[in-house]
Amino acid sequence: MFDEESDRKTMNTQTPENKNEEPVVLLIDDSIDVHRLLAARLRSEPIQLICASTGADGLEIANQITPAVILLDLDMPEIDGFAVLRQLKDNTNTVEVPVLVLSGLTGTQDKVTAFDLGAVDYITKPFDIIELRVRIRSALKMSNLINMLNKRAQIDGLTGLWNRVYFDQRLEELTTAVSRTNHALSIGVIDLDHFKSINDTYGHPAGDTVIQGLAGILGETCRGTDICCRYGGEEFVILMPDTDPQEAVNLCERIRELLKEKRWSRHPNRVVTASFGVTGVAENVSCSRPASEWLEAADGNLYKAKQGGRDRVEATSIDSGVRLAEAS
Ligand code: GH3
Ligand code: MG
Ligand code: MG
Repeated sequence: MFDEESDRKTMNTQTPENKNEEPVVLLIDDSIDVHRLLAARLRSEPIQLICASTGADGLEIANQITPAVILLDLDMPEIDGFAVLRQLKDNTNTVEVPVLVLSGLTGTQDKVTAFDLGAVDYITKPFDIIELRVRIRSALKMSNLINMLNKRAQIDGLTGLWNRVYFDQRLEELTTAVSRTNHALSIGVIDLDHFKSINDTYGHPAGDTVIQGLAGILGETCRGTDICCRYGGEEFVILMPDTDPQEAVNLCERIRELLKEKRWSRHPNRVVTASFGVTGVAENVSCSRPASEWLEAADGNLYKAKQGGRDRVEATSIDSGVRLAEAS
């Protein structure tokens, strides 16, 4: 069965879901009247308005939830709006959130300072609510655009899977978390066998179709919590949170078999296989290895799989280095 078309459709299953939640707009203003006014007048907008009464509270909320847009008053006691803006732009969690200044300060210099500090818009109080609405919508569009660009920068163009930039970041996060929580974690490195000969024999587009085909199998086989990435060329990596290495071996065996069974329209008689290197730690086993050692261990097993004849899964526990039995 030739199912390359369906592969393309399933390819995005491991990338971020589009949650249909209303975007959060954070209002930071010391005036409760402004909170009430905006809550009432923005009720019909498809947004979730959250209000903070001090610069400190606003900064804390913004850092925790990364809102889509921030509406910021300038004249506030203790930490004023300029200082809040400076701190928002110094924080990687909030640096990209469009900030719309909502201020009673009408002087040109205040506006210049706010824009210099990174505000995207400036509305003077008393504001016209219709104008405020359209400016919020415009800031939301900007926020969507920024999110889309950020997401694209982490997605592989050929397969729709996560790319290496995203993988490196998540591997670092997950291995650090595991050393604290003692949860299970496994990673699997996959490399297509004799792939150069597929390119050389059937052409580069046929090679691309194989790469996409394997990505499709990963999308169909992995769980929603698994993170499937194209590491580069014909190499893939799966990050499997809460999965012990034996379960990871079983999953990789399934992928290996599905790939081997797949028939390709461009070369129906040529079977494609891949080799797998897996490493991981079971739940409640202490493990504090850095990300680089996880990758080295999985890569070492991939090398063993290649040396052992390809089309196979090799796996060890990262904590003990003990080789795991074949899939059960
Ligand atoms: P092995 O079984 O030892 O892994 O051999 P191999 O031929 O798969 O490995 P090798 O590293 O020699 O070749 C990988 C090839 O993958 C070489 C490169 O031209 C090709 N390649 C890398 N990226 C792409 C791509 O995006 N599309 C296609 N079609 N080929 C690619
Ligand atoms: Mg390779
Ligand atoms: Mg290869």
